[in-house]
Amino acid sequence: MSTAPERVADDFRTAFGRRAPAVVVRAPGRVNVIGDHTDYHEGFALPAAIDRELRLAAAPRTDRTLQVLSTVSDERVEIDLTTLTPTGRNHWHDYVAGTAWALAEAGHDIGGADIAIRSDLPIGAGLSSSAALEMAVARALCALGKIPWNAASISRAARRAENDYVGLGCGIMDQLTVGAGVAGHALLLDCRSLAVEPIALPSDLAIVVMDTGVRRSLAATEYDVRRAACEAALDAVRRRCAGVRTLRDVDASQLEAIRGDLDAADREAAYRRAAHVIAENARPAQLATALGTRDYAEAGRLVDASHASLRDLYEVSCPELDQITALARRTTGCYGARMTGGGFGGSAVALVAAEASEAFAGEVSAAYRAEGPPGGSVFTCRASAGASVLESG
Ligand code: ADP
Ligand code: MG
Repeated sequence: MSTAPERVADDFRTAFGRRAPAVVVRAPGRVNVIGDHTDYHEGFALPAAIDRELRLAAAPRTDRTLQVLSTVSDERVEIDLTTLTPTGRNHWHDYVAGTAWALAEAGHDIGGADIAIRSDLPIGAGLSSSAALEMAVARALCALGKIPWNAASISRAARRAENDYVGLGCGIMDQLTVGAGVAGHALLLDCRSLAVEPIALPSDLAIVVMDTGVRRSLAATEYDVRRAACEAALDAVRRRCAGVRTLRDVDASQLEAIRGDLDAADREAAYRRAAHVIAENARPAQLATALGTRDYAEAGRLVDASHASLRDLYEVSCPELDQITALARRTTGCYGARMTGGGFGGSAVALVAAEASEAFAGEVSAAYRAEGPPGGSVFTCRASAGASVLESG
């Protein structure tokens, strides 16, 4: 992990021998408080942008190339904007090229640029360093090209970069949160309309991120398998009910009604995956209400129930995520804990009494280190603003 993102302008000057970048932008990571594996079913989620971020310094070039470097790599990469085609690889610079490609596909005129990148977001920890990279690139290219910034439509392009250029499946939650974050607030996202409702986070409640240190090697293939199982359940519902587009439109009784229609071979899997999505879809609004009334017992119950559903129905947890959330639940001040993001490693999140959060982070970290694998970290995060321009000359 590279740190001190504020040094990115120095990286830029050193690498490119230019006096100063024309723009410096930032894009935060995100933590999903509740509502996982719902976004690609056009459902609901309640994430927050966090106070760890990626920064990018850039200046225009006269040719049609991007010259890009990042502190995560020794290579300086040249991207020819005139020959961009989806790679299906996932080299770090494909996220940069993919974002330029997706913006061009959306009809924007993208010019060449020198770009330096530095970040304090852990990579592959489920805190969306990939969306931070895409949205920072988009923010900078839009600033340089005088392209109007609209968080929702640019998020759509950034998601396209990840899905269609890099070749990794994901919903819109990451990019939209990174784009639309509001300081001190979680965001109630409607992943169909892309409506964003900021939900104030009470000052006596802390959001603690618990990175297991385990990286998500299975995530890409298992994501496709989960989507296919959900599709089987959705097809069965559609055969009986009109007007159903995605699992967001399905309720528990409709799922029960088609249980017997499902192919015996994959009935159990299709039923459980869809049952998770349907139950999880209701939780973001329920948690928003609990936060509004400061009913932290209810908030904790929802968060714990979400973890159980992801573990038992969607089956995307892993031993380390189960372990760190169990440790959290037995530590003073914790209202509830769950895995967050795609699963199979990465991070978990806990809702903790603010006055106890520092001691909580220390205790969970020590207990996890004593029992679990090496690596990982536990920290309290603050909800922050979405991608923004810090300097523009
Ligand atoms: P997550 O989004 O959970 O951190 P992903 O696997 O989705 O994990 O995305 C991580 C990838 O994003 C990295 O492997 C790298 O290709 C790219 N990436 C993230 N941060 C940076 C960075 N600072 N510089 C260059 N590439 C980055
Ligand atoms: Mg990612």
